[in-house]
Amino acid sequence: MKKPSEYIKIGCELRPFQVFGTMYQHSHSSCAAGAFIDGYSGERRTDYDPLGIIWNQIVWQFQFRSRIVACPECGPDFPNFPDQLVSHLNDHHKWTRERIGDWLDAQMPQDPVGSNKIQLDATASYSMSEEEDLELVDA
Ligand SMILES: [Zn+2]
Repeated sequence: MKKPSEYIKIGCELRPFQVFGTMYQHSHSSCAAGAFIDGYSGERRTDYDPLGIIWNQIVWQFQFRSRIVACPECGPDFPNFPDQLVSHLNDHHKWTRERIGDWLDAQMPQDPVGSNKIQLDATASYSMSEEEDLELVDA
């Protein structure tokens, strides 16, 4: 699976210009969400009806949902991440689609955080016992 930024980059190649306030304009322009959908589909979508279905699939796949995320520019919390926040960054702050993609990459849940943390803790206590060994040697 590609990262959000990689899908958006593909979408930007499919429609080279950014549009604000709407998802698509003709065959040449898309907003960040539109570029994500195009890139994810691997083609310029012309059928508007299933767009919601594809978007929901993307949101589910990247486990974006059920979080409240603050706007990195102006602060307020946006529920239902990432729907409104992506259009807000695109339409209001005029972030480029590529920048929104990079930012979305950083919002992805970090998978095996729990197990990694246990590993690190185990290492920490191991190095403590090494110090004890050193003290014994010194004595
Ligand atoms: Zn904002």
